[in-house]
Amino acid sequence: MADDDVNPFESLQEQIDDAAAYLDVGDDVLERLKNPERVLETNLSVELDDGDVGVFRAYRSQFNGDRGPYKGGIRYHPGVNRDEVKALSGWMVYKCATVDIPYGGGKGGIQIDPSAYSETELERITRSFATELRPLIGEDRDIPAPDVNTGQREMNWIKDTYETLENTTAPGVVTGKTIESGGSLGRVEATGRSTMLTAREAFDHLDKEMSDASVAVQGYGNAGSIAAQLVHDDLDASVVAVSDSSGAVYNPDGLDPHEVKRFKNETGSVSGYDGATEELTNEELLTLDVDLLIPAALENAIDGDLAADVEADVIVEAANGPLTPEADEVLTDRDVYVLPDILANAGGVTVSYFEWVQNRQRFYWTEEKVNEELERHIVEAFDELVRTFENEDVPNFRTAAYVVAIRRVLDAYEEGGSWP
Ligand code: GLU
Repeated sequence: MADDDVNPFESLQEQIDDAAAYLDVGDDVLERLKNPERVLETNLSVELDDGDVGVFRAYRSQFNGDRGPYKGGIRYHPGVNRDEVKALSGWMVYKCATVDIPYGGGKGGIQIDPSAYSETELERITRSFATELRPLIGEDRDIPAPDVNTGQREMNWIKDTYETLENTTAPGVVTGKTIESGGSLGRVEATGRSTMLTAREAFDHLDKEMSDASVAVQGYGNAGSIAAQLVHDDLDASVVAVSDSSGAVYNPDGLDPHEVKRFKNETGSVSGYDGATEELTNEELLTLDVDLLIPAALENAIDGDLAADVEADVIVEAANGPLTPEADEVLTDRDVYVLPDILANAGGVTVSYFEWVQNRQRFYWTEEKVNEELERHIVEAFDELVRTFENEDVPNFRTAAYVVAIRRVLDAYEEGGSWP
């Protein structure tokens, strides 16, 4: 199953190389497209509730700023490391370019299991990180956002720390805040919404029916749970299996994704949900015979071996980097359609962009307008990807997305000219 030996930074570089083969790009420029501009690596030393000092490794990678300020989330997870953050920041560059929003890419993370710390400890840790980040971030410089195990609470702390230290108001320094702190309506749901929209467009393009399509969702955090609810509510799909790190639950007649979410909120996991007829392992979920599989957890969920056993017709990636390059190759050969992360989960950063626009203008949108604009961005990006897939003889939608995105980054870079 999950292959921890695959280095996500090498996966990113392979994905860029695969697309560069279809583009006229010199080796020197290609190196630039494949490597971060800078990476901050630091220790946060923070007093814990018992008086001891905790030391936490933290990172921020600014991958590429040719198209605008660096943009991307901050992850709290024990598995965070330098190469993971570098990969995630690179995926942000090509994600923002795929959906054509005026940002570069960045990503940060703290190596920590947040469930082992109190709220007051997490606040001190987050404020300490924000203090380290202060010289690097800013509304026009680098704009953090939520990622795995972070959300509105952490974003509010970062904003408050930054504004206090800078003695100003700058709500657009971070996105994904609560509404009261300058957040946008629709931001919490945005990643799952783009996953649903991508699935809808893909099924339409492939002449497949989405109503009654069976769906399995791996991961039931923000992205996975909202995607499950939206394919169920808006597209009439039947969500037959969902999982989290505790295991998977299955019902061939369909689960109620809202009820599963309520159950997880109450008990901490999806396992034991009484609307299920069977409990499965994560691997069994990923190889279920379903119409649509949505990986919505972490990187490397499906490697080459597992890909050979995948029975889904379509995969829509809500997580970042859930397929290894070897899995991609196997699935392409087997004609399984994979809609890549840099399109399918781009709703999060797209509505982050709307939040930032609203912050800069001090003028706030209705949820209807947010969702309408999001749909327009995702549908236009999907159409561009299909055109590229059909006209440029690329092997799959991922390479099509990278071809589109790299072209946009190159255009911005080349039009900037060179500094003598
Ligand atoms: N962490 C999200 C992602 O991977 C959102 C980033 C953002 O909103 O800047 O796309």
